[in-house]
Amino acid sequence: MQKALFLDRDGIINIDHAYVYEIEKFEFTEGIFELLRFFRTKGYIFFIVTNQSGIGRGYYSEDDFQVLTSWMLDELRKENIDIVSVHHCNHAPEEKCNCRKPETGMIDEILSKNTIDLKNSWLMGDKQSDIDLAHNVNIINTIAIGERDIVNSLYSFKTILECKLFLEENQVIIKS
Ligand SMILES: [Mg+2]
Ligand SMILES: [Zn+2]
Repeated sequence: MQKALFLDRDGIINIDHAYVYEIEKFEFTEGIFELLRFFRTKGYIFFIVTNQSGIGRGYYSEDDFQVLTSWMLDELRKENIDIVSVHHCNHAPEEKCNCRKPETGMIDEILSKNTIDLKNSWLMGDKQSDIDLAHNVNIINTIAIGERDIVNSLYSFKTILECKLFLEENQVIIKS
């Protein structure tokens, strides 16, 4: 069984400028590469789960999303970071799908294709819906990032950088 780190995209991997779909607007958050490499040294594999309602709302296309995703994965690979797979919900909220976070469809799909040690897995996000998703699939190890008031997260940090420094200095993420 493998331990996973489930990552939200906007606000975690990149700065959330709202409905980011262009490469020029995609800015990696400070410290994210180092944070992911830290998790990797502890034996974690990575998945991205991202709500992309901008597609359902007609702000950008599925193709725009896929082009940006390929570019993002290339950039991460240059930093020696491999993402196992990227999962996105392309529905608008009113479509009431089963994949828009905090609904569990995206993680259900991951769990159907990978054998994951959920007890020792982590989820990192910047919205309540991320943390609620974690609880909906019984992931107890959660990290909330940013300025929003988020309840019921195991850890909360203002920034990725702050999170990285904390995890490096404290034995929270254990190699096993
Ligand atoms: Mg987000
Ligand atoms: Zn959906």
